[in-house]
Amino acid sequence: MELVGTYGKHSDLNASIGLSDLGNQFWNLSPAELVEDTIITGQGVLTDTGALAIETGEFTGRSPKDRFVVFDEKTENSVWWGDVNIKFDAGKFDALYNRMKAYLNGKDVYVRDAYACADPTFAMNIRVVTEFPWSNMFAYNMFLRPEAHEIENFLPEWHIVCAPGFKADPAIDGTRQHNFAILNFTKKMILIGGTGYTGEIKKGIFSVLNYVLPHEKNVLSMHCSANIGNEEHDTAIFFGLSGTGKTTLSSDENRRLIGDDEHGWAESSVFNFEGGCYAKTIDLTREKEPQIYDAIKFGAILENIGFSGGSTPDYTDNSITENTRVSYPIHHIDNIAEPSIGSTPKNIFFLTADAFGVLPPISKLTKEQAMYHFMSGYTAKVAGTEVGITEPTTTFSACFGAAFLPLHPAKYAKLLGEKLNGTDINVWLINTGWTGGSYGVGSRMKLSYTRAMITAALTGKLDDVAYETLPIFDLAMPTSCENVPSEILNPRATWADKKAYDDTANNLASKFVKNFEKFAAETDANILAAAPKVLAV
Ligand code: ATP
Ligand code: MN
Repeated sequence: MELVGTYGKHSDLNASIGLSDLGNQFWNLSPAELVEDTIITGQGVLTDTGALAIETGEFTGRSPKDRFVVFDEKTENSVWWGDVNIKFDAGKFDALYNRMKAYLNGKDVYVRDAYACADPTFAMNIRVVTEFPWSNMFAYNMFLRPEAHEIENFLPEWHIVCAPGFKADPAIDGTRQHNFAILNFTKKMILIGGTGYTGEIKKGIFSVLNYVLPHEKNVLSMHCSANIGNEEHDTAIFFGLSGTGKTTLSSDENRRLIGDDEHGWAESSVFNFEGGCYAKTIDLTREKEPQIYDAIKFGAILENIGFSGGSTPDYTDNSITENTRVSYPIHHIDNIAEPSIGSTPKNIFFLTADAFGVLPPISKLTKEQAMYHFMSGYTAKVAGTEVGITEPTTTFSACFGAAFLPLHPAKYAKLLGEKLNGTDINVWLINTGWTGGSYGVGSRMKLSYTRAMITAALTGKLDDVAYETLPIFDLAMPTSCENVPSEILNPRATWADKKAYDDTANNLASKFVKNFEKFAAETDANILAAAPKVLAV
């Protein structure tokens, strides 16, 4: 069996990770070749946008309960063990990998050399070995792409082996079920099996960087998007959990995109970890999100979408999943920062999609409130799509990304605190969720209004306007904002039933307080004082 494609001197998978007796090895194929292989093998189709469309199979989202970290000398006292970082036995890891190797015996594999971190000081080489061509193309789209001459001497630091067709046996392998994503910090390997969801590949490396950068390099790693003003060259970052608007709001025709999901904040720069974007496509329209819409062309990979007859994507089709996605290399967006690096942020946005409709669409946080809300990491999702279920469910995910944090959240919060202290960086809380009532009564905030509020904040137009204070949460809300009706700026004013608002707000406040109990012992009093004030009822 042979090596096909472009590969360098260090291309012996047996020597590096013990992978032998494979079928053909396809090294660093071009997107066109990977598209061709995907289509020829019946794993995907070409859409009339030029983008490839694939289905990821049984899993159309990440599976947090099947994500493990190998427990060993290196991780024992550094990793924050629990529901997020679930322990996996080092011996079991080796045994499972042996079974994966056996599975890959005689099979063709696709190999991709890539790296993470746009700042060369922190660049980390990654080699991704995949069973499927489209998983490989995802890695091409999402990670940074070495130049052809860099492939020659490419030395991988981390390896990912991704075999969606390999199903683990919990009784033998020590997994929870047949799918898994396992991080091994000592061997610098990530094993992914039983799931074809591509997001596991990118979030695996994100988790690695969330360990390495803060722990070993004093860099704050962040689950955020980032962009730079065309004229002022000011950097803005947007933190938020899934679905809160990081990708959508960071694509802005007046600002160059640094990146849409994962960044590091070093001494004086913010840099992208990735080389691509991973956007949601549900209900995507050119009118609302022109940059993302236009990025869907040859080279992009659409996941789990439906079709309106023939090969035309139907972005309203949620029959496979709500989480339909597209990945594309960042240069599919026309105004990007090159390289993907900006200066220290001038504005920080915390995005929350508050389905209770309690939080204001924009408010300005004090430093203490910023720390409190960063540690809380609040958003609220709509409970389900079933008829009659109208009660949203709260999510508190520390640092707006606990699912990807191998270290204790206090570590990241401490780094953020150090970066904020003594600066005039603005921190804004943005509710991209509900207004006029909770889910079921109110409606989602108009995207055009959210964009206008962010633009106003970024251009200093909220510096000299009047502010009022939202009770309970004690948030400073502007009373006017260009291109936004003033009536929507105070959430209580948008509710017909004020008593219902007050009760819902109080109820949400008590959830914040309860969630924060676990951090109370190690949090400074001034930050604790920024908690919402639950009213006695
Ligand atoms: P992930 O971490 O999963 O990538 P994300 O934070 O990047 O999530 P987006 O992909 O930007 O989230 O998703 C936001 C979704 O909400 C988009 O589909 C967008 O069209 C929709 N949306 C509706 N109203 C708003 C609003 N007011 N602000 C932002 N997004 C909105
Ligand atoms: Mn996103």
